[in-house]
Amino acid sequence: MKVKVVGGGLAGCEAAYHLLKAGMAVDMYEMRPYKNTPAHSTAGLAELVCSNSLKSTTEDSAQGVLKFEMRTLDSLVLKVAEETSVPAGAALAVDRALFSSAIETKLNTFSKFSLHRSEVDTIEPYSIIATGPLTSDAMTSSILKFTGTGNLSFYDAAAPIIEFASVDMTKAFYGARYNKGDADYLNCPMSKEEYDLFYNALINAERVKLKDFEKGDLFEGCMPIEIMASRGYDAMRFGPLRPVGLSNSLDKRPFAVVQLRKEDKAGNLYNIVGFQTNLTFPAQRSVFAHIPALANAEYARYGVMHRNTYLNAPNVLNYGIQAKTNPHVFFAGQITGVEGYMESALSGILSAINMIRLLKGHELVTPPIDTLSGALCEYLSNPTTNFQPMRVSFGLLPEIEVKHKAARKLAYATRARESILKFASSIAGI
Ligand SMILES: Cc1cc2nc3c(=O)[nH]c(=O)nc-3n(C[C@H](O)[C@H](O)[C@H](O)COP(=O)(O)OP(=O)(O)OC[C@H]3O[C@@H](n4cnc5c(N)ncnc54)[C@H](O)[C@@H]3O)c2cc1C
Repeated sequence: MKVKVVGGGLAGCEAAYHLLKAGMAVDMYEMRPYKNTPAHSTAGLAELVCSNSLKSTTEDSAQGVLKFEMRTLDSLVLKVAEETSVPAGAALAVDRALFSSAIETKLNTFSKFSLHRSEVDTIEPYSIIATGPLTSDAMTSSILKFTGTGNLSFYDAAAPIIEFASVDMTKAFYGARYNKGDADYLNCPMSKEEYDLFYNALINAERVKLKDFEKGDLFEGCMPIEIMASRGYDAMRFGPLRPVGLSNSLDKRPFAVVQLRKEDKAGNLYNIVGFQTNLTFPAQRSVFAHIPALANAEYARYGVMHRNTYLNAPNVLNYGIQAKTNPHVFFAGQITGVEGYMESALSGILSAINMIRLLKGHELVTPPIDTLSGALCEYLSNPTTNFQPMRVSFGLLPEIEVKHKAARKLAYATRARESILKFASSIAGI
């Protein structure tokens, strides 16, 4: 059986490897170097477009646990990254040129692997579409037709997402503005003195330098909070931070109120309402720490504003990978709404495992939801009004009742490791 893999990035290469290992023939289509994306600069497969870091390896971090899960599932990207690593403390960083060529060499060891250097603009059955956040225009049109317009986003303008467990609830309270609707919002009040500190830090904070292809209409209709702040001292207080309609729960009306809104059903994650931002990640940590309830906030995802083509996965994909409109078409990588190098590669593994299962007449599977891989699939399957891409974090996992933060992280990590081992043995040989 032959499978077409469209896109030779991290997800496409990972998917191809798993299909080939299972004895399938793979036709991979990669449009570079004949047609480039605005960010890639080589013809190599699995090119890392920006940082050469694949993030933390520490055992009690979400990225460290994800690496354990991916190693258990025999990730090609992880294996080659470890073989081509460069010293980077507690992170896994690679020599990007060696990494890319070693991936291609590995795929070429399979006699059933064929690499075609051409752009694909149609979607056929028995394909895995892994064309990434910078999918070509022709393929974008095909995807729009295939999934229905309204299911594809082109920019990611997202506010940070905070882990609920890290919010200081002695300094925040639940409540709906003017008591309209359920008291689902978590309100973080500020005094004038606190607002002044926050405001000054915000307007002076370091911003991400936009790439040329990201300039233009990116910010229209979705103003970053730092731009709003720079328009005047009170601009935020008349916008998302307005302190009105919430004072009934407090002795005194606050000067400003930052609101957090639930991001997942379980209420483990909250986004900061109206805080889409282009600040650097360290600047987000330090500036938003001036909001008293968020002084020690843990970020499941930082705010971003960048070019990113991604599907509304809950609407159009089963388990975050299989097209609802045609069960013989799978998607993989950043285009499915996962975010990050490792998450994209993970998605490639899961789509390949399931393409193989489909072709062998088995039911599709996803890892258990107490693993980070499974929790990410679950996130991609849950409809929300404003679906935003997601990377792995412990906040996605079903809660564990352990009070101390360090012990809780360890408990999440231990449970996930045990669970992925069981999952891997349950699908072995299929
Ligand atoms: C500018 C930028 C910087 C990023 N920086 C980071 C970072 O530092 N760290 C991080 O963790 N994540 C980063 N990401 C997010 C994400 O992790 C990477 O984009 C990652 O490479 C996604 O993997 P992928 O396999 O889904 O897509 P890609 O790696 O982009 O692979 C998709 C491939 O498909 C090809 N393709 C596209 N359309 C077609 C077509 N029609 N026919 C044939 N081939 C096609 C492309 O040429 C490309 O090779 C960044 C994203 C962008 C856009």
